[in-house]
Amino acid sequence: NEQIILAKRPQGMPNQADFAFEEQPMPVPQAGEVLVRTVYLSVDPYMRGRMSDAKSYVKPYEVGEVIQGGAVGQVMESTHPGFREGDFVAGNWGWRRYAVVSSSTLRKINPELAPVSTALGVLGMTGLTAYFGLLDIGQPQAGETVVVSGAAGAVGMIVGQIAKIKGTRVVGIAGSDEKIRYLTEELGFDAALNYHSETFEDELREACPDGVDIYFDNVGGEVSDAVLRLINKNARIPICGQIALYNLEKPDTGPRIQSLLLTNTALMKGFLVGDYQSRYNEALHELAEWLRDGKIKYAENIIEGFENTPEAFLGLFSGENLGKQLVKVSEE
Ligand code: NDP
Repeated sequence: NEQIILAKRPQGMPNQADFAFEEQPMPVPQAGEVLVRTVYLSVDPYMRGRMSDAKSYVKPYEVGEVIQGGAVGQVMESTHPGFREGDFVAGNWGWRRYAVVSSSTLRKINPELAPVSTALGVLGMTGLTAYFGLLDIGQPQAGETVVVSGAAGAVGMIVGQIAKIKGTRVVGIAGSDEKIRYLTEELGFDAALNYHSETFEDELREACPDGVDIYFDNVGGEVSDAVLRLINKNARIPICGQIALYNLEKPDTGPRIQSLLLTNTALMKGFLVGDYQSRYNEALHELAEWLRDGKIKYAENIIEGFENTPEAFLGLFSGENLGKQLVKVSEE
C-alpha cells in the first residue's frame, strides 16, 4: 500500500521535495473498522498550514506522518454492519491508496444523488464553508453588493452562486481571464475581475458603483486591501482564508484598516467550517436541492494518478485549478 508523507517542513512555497512516497503492508481491518480503496483525494490550501509547526486550530502534521485530509473511497471489506462492500464513503484518511478507517469517522455517500467526488467539494467541506461563511456571517440581503476573492476556486464559486440566489449583485475576483469568463458566462456573476490586471483597483471601483456590503475573503493580501477601501456602512467581512499569505516567509504588514471598520461600523469575522458541524445536514440538504434545481453549478479540476498528488497540491498556489482540485486515484 502506497502513501505520501511529509518529508520535511516547507520553507516558503512548498515543493515536491517536501513530500515522500512510502510502501506499507496492506492494512487489515479490526473490529469496527473498514478497509477502503481511495477513489478521490482532496488537496486543500489549509494543508499548507498543517505542514508548518506554528500553533493553529488543527495540529500540525508531524514530519514522517501521512498527509491527512479528505478522501472518497469504496469499501472493500467491513467489520461494521453499517458499511458493506461496494459502498462509497467519505472520510479523512488522507494521501494513501488504501486505508483502514474507524467506521465512526466515515460518512456514507449516495452515488445516485450526485457524482461521489462532490462529497469533497460542493456537497462537502468546501460547499459547507461557502454556505456558512456567507449566510451566517455575511447575511446577504437582496440588492446588496457581494465581492468574493478566490472566486473561481472551490469555495469561492459556491459563495458567488449562493449570493446570486439571495438576490445580491456579485463581483468575483480571480487570477486568469479564463476564470473570469467562466464566472460571468457560466455562473452568472454580475462582474468578475482579474487581480493581475494593472488597472485592477479602478476596475473594482467601477464594478462596485454602490460600494461593498459583503466581502467574502479567501485570499487576503493586496486584493483584500483594495476591496476593503470600498466597504459600505455596516459591511460584513467573513474571513475564510488568506491564501496569499500562507507561503510568506516574513509576516505581511498591509495597510491598517481598523479605522475603515470603525467608521463604517463594519463586522470582520473569521470562521472555521468545522465549528458548524451540528448544522452540516441542514446545509447539505439545501446545497443538494440547489444543485438538483440547477441553481448552483460546480467545477472540478481532476488530476489523474496518485503519484501526482503533490503536484495537484502545489498547483493550488499557482491557481492551476478552476473549481475543486481533486486527484483521481482509482476507478469508481
Ligand atoms: P481554491 O479552490 O480557491 O484554490 C486556491 C486558489 O487560490 C487558487 O486556484 C488561486 O486562484 C488562488 N490563489 C493562490 N494563491 C493566491 C494568491 N497569492 N493571491 C490570490 N489568490 C491566490 O481553494 P479552496 O476553495 O479550497 O479554499 C479557498 C480559501 O478558503 C483558502 O484560503 C482556504 O484556506 C480557505 N478555506 C477556509 C475554510 C474555513 O473553514 N475557514 C475551509 C476551506 C477553505 P487564482 O487563479 O484566482 O489566483
